[in-house]
Amino acid sequence: MLVEGAILDVDGARPAYVRFDRGRIAEVGKLGTDSRRGRDRRRRGIVIPSPVNGHTHLGDAVSVREPPAAPVARLVAAPDGYKFRLLAGATPAAKRSAIRRALDRMRRSGVAATIDFREEGAAGVELLRAAARGSGVRAVALGRPLVRPVDPRELAEVLRVADGIGLSSARDERGVDRRTIAAACRSAGKPFALHASEAVREPPDAYLEPRPDLLVHLAKATPDDLRAVAEARVTVAVCPRSNALFGRQPDLAAMERLGVRVLLGTDNAMFQAPSIWRELEFAYVGTRLRRRPASAAFLARAALVEPWRWLRTPAAARIAPGSPAVPLVLRLPPDDPAYQVVTRTTEHVIVRPGPGRSEAP
Ligand SMILES: [Zn+2]
Repeated sequence: MLVEGAILDVDGARPAYVRFDRGRIAEVGKLGTDSRRGRDRRRRGIVIPSPVNGHTHLGDAVSVREPPAAPVARLVAAPDGYKFRLLAGATPAAKRSAIRRALDRMRRSGVAATIDFREEGAAGVELLRAAARGSGVRAVALGRPLVRPVDPRELAEVLRVADGIGLSSARDERGVDRRTIAAACRSAGKPFALHASEAVREPPDAYLEPRPDLLVHLAKATPDDLRAVAEARVTVAVCPRSNALFGRQPDLAAMERLGVRVLLGTDNAMFQAPSIWRELEFAYVGTRLRRRPASAAFLARAALVEPWRWLRTPAAARIAPGSPAVPLVLRLPPDDPAYQVVTRTTEHVIVRPGPGRSEAP
């Protein structure tokens, strides 16, 4: 297959052709210079690396009803909030199949990986691992130890099975527990992540010390707070649809201006379908609605480029021969590629160049 149009990847957007051979990128170059001279089937489109969902709680997919009218803190508070009662009341099998359904939907929409906060200790992580096996989506599991004060044995067990730790928030944890957990992550070489300034503003010292590898939300952070985050070079996962459901938004324009590294996530699967494309469109339009526009290029990077860097595989965000990227072809006009990707992509326009794959998802 030969795609003529544009590439949007770690190097930005540019007009180009991409030739695929058995699903692999065989050739990339300027339009009109390909070696096939009309012998290959041509399509017009945009070639991108597969997106990553930067923040999910897929276990929540066990319930998909409209959220009850209550502050988000009460809904998702451990251990007695609405969400944790639902999790506690569902069987492992029900949770596993709900997670699998969410992962299947993600795969159909072209998502290659998800960075998931998995509650319920080591057993919760094992459940996610079982659900993800053979799903075609890499589930990066940030587990959560349950016992407080932290029990070193439980923490070691969670870290053994998980890819890192993802905590509720700095406010919900004692400093000594956060420091113990962060130090254990450091020595295991695994990321330490937590939610911050979601429903109420927290001072940056509360969540930047000990330094995390990932912060989630910062919907209530001020521009000064965001400057401190940018200076600490900590990546932030934002979830605009999830925040909007509870009447708030992250300041994406300020994050872009200050050079904060941003991932885009769909958050609790009980409240939002895990669709990165819907999240992208909402993020873009939402910033315009608030007259604080973030650029399409910045948002596209948050889905297609920054997460691969965060996962320490930056080459997976490059469309080039020999790249480990899993490319997607979007049947969209190649003009202004970041704008097309952010506002017009649905799973219906995705073509997978892989061998034996049907062209319709
Ligand atoms: Zn979250």
